[in-house]
Amino acid sequence: MLIYEKSRQGRGSSLLPACDVPDHPLPEKDLRAEAPGLPQVSEVDLSRHYTELAHKAHGVNDGFYPLGSCTMKYNPRINEKTAALPGFTGVHPLQPESTVQGCLQVLKETGEALSAITGMEAFTFQPAAGAHGEFTGLLLIMAYHQANGQTQRTKIIVPDSAHGTNPASAVMAGMSVINVDSDESGCVDVAKLRELCESEEGQEIAGLMLTNPNTAGLFDPNILEITRIIHDCGGQVYYDGANLNAVMGIARPADMGFDCVHLNLHKTFSTPHGGGGPGAGPVGCRAHLAPFLPGKTVEEKDGVLTLAKPAQSLGEMKDFYGNFLVAVKALTYIKTLGAEGILSASQNAVLNANYMMAKLRDLYDIAFDTKVCMHEFVMDLSRLLKETGVSAMDIAKGLLDHGIHPPTMYFPLTVHEALMVEPTETESRETLDWAIGVLRDLHQLAHTDPEALHQAPVTTPVRRLDEVGAARHPVLRYTREEA
Ligand SMILES: *Cc1c(COP(=O)(O)O)cnc(C)c1O
Repeated sequence: MLIYEKSRQGRGSSLLPACDVPDHPLPEKDLRAEAPGLPQVSEVDLSRHYTELAHKAHGVNDGFYPLGSCTMKYNPRINEKTAALPGFTGVHPLQPESTVQGCLQVLKETGEALSAITGMEAFTFQPAAGAHGEFTGLLLIMAYHQANGQTQRTKIIVPDSAHGTNPASAVMAGMSVINVDSDESGCVDVAKLRELCESEEGQEIAGLMLTNPNTAGLFDPNILEITRIIHDCGGQVYYDGANLNAVMGIARPADMGFDCVHLNLHKTFSTPHGGGGPGAGPVGCRAHLAPFLPGKTVEEKDGVLTLAKPAQSLGEMKDFYGNFLVAVKALTYIKTLGAEGILSASQNAVLNANYMMAKLRDLYDIAFDTKVCMHEFVMDLSRLLKETGVSAMDIAKGLLDHGIHPPTMYFPLTVHEALMVEPTETESRETLDWAIGVLRDLHQLAHTDPEALHQAPVTTPVRRLDEVGAARHPVLRYTREEA
């Protein structure tokens, strides 16, 4: 039931003190013709309404949530506690710098921590999400080429396994996208890449965007050669670091040869995402790109922190300092774990993914089956579909009936019936064993009673949704019945 349907004339839940300043009525022309029709409900009904909605959703605190690529990890409560400190919530972005030294210190320390993790030299916190970070990083690369008189460099290479936001961000940044196919092992086809970069087109290459480990959960063993090929032809290399869960504290993008990276604080650094945002997609770069960074960056002068605009700044990507409180949460996470904890988070993420993969690979085909995966692995259900008629979608829906959020489905696009599983580091062995058991049971059910899986889910607040219908004919507006 919608909150509008619960509304009753005259009910309310606001207790405003009497106005203690003079009235300033709006001019007639600015007044609306009729009241806005806001829902009128009592406080208890309002509270129950949102609690009821919360119970209908599946969140990271409700159960296992193995969403590959999009890392849904536990959001420690202490992050929220620090982000709620009045010294952080009560500030205004236009306050004099001398009164917000603590906030500037947060940005400085978060930047330093992320630099230590990635090997980059400078960070901007303006981008509000991963895709926004990609857009920012690509504009940085374009600004760099333009400053060097290389205006013909407008083409960006994106592998076919890339996250969909990569080519979209490139097009928004005014680049044209060249796709390179993966080789049989699921990694970048180095021979094809070299051929492209050594051809005449090499002079038009602005750079390459890469996720490593890639979306199949594989660390590209040729990474040093790949970044060298791009640099040799005059390009820059962009690291999609949305999900750094396998390599934090182990391998740094800068050491792999990358010039620029974005990180999703709302994935790797444990701040909430998926309706629970806002997120943040800070962008880090090597020193040669730093003069082009957007917004202002924190500098220290005689022990005092101040904000300065980089010399050839590309402008503003967002107002002020981006989603500042997300940086507070991420810094809290980094500081609670410390360097050792960051390292073991990555190790446990990789261990958990490998444990699940090893316990499932006799039943489910693993895409690009290698001995070990990184923080996630991809199951290919094509054979199951052929043998039983049960698709990756059916298995995903079946998981919902067991209180498990489905893994990422039908991604990467290079795998047909893909289920992409990322257990994350905080899950216990018991939880993993239980989830493995459910996946094994569903595999058996696919053979004994496939129809049951076509019908799933049956225990959720809503049954199977018409997803195509919802995308093609979305109903985005509630029309009130006139009394
Ligand atoms: C999630 C993700 C993105 C996009 O991040 P948003 O914050 O959703 O914009 C980009 N690349 C990869 C690999 C991702 O997993």
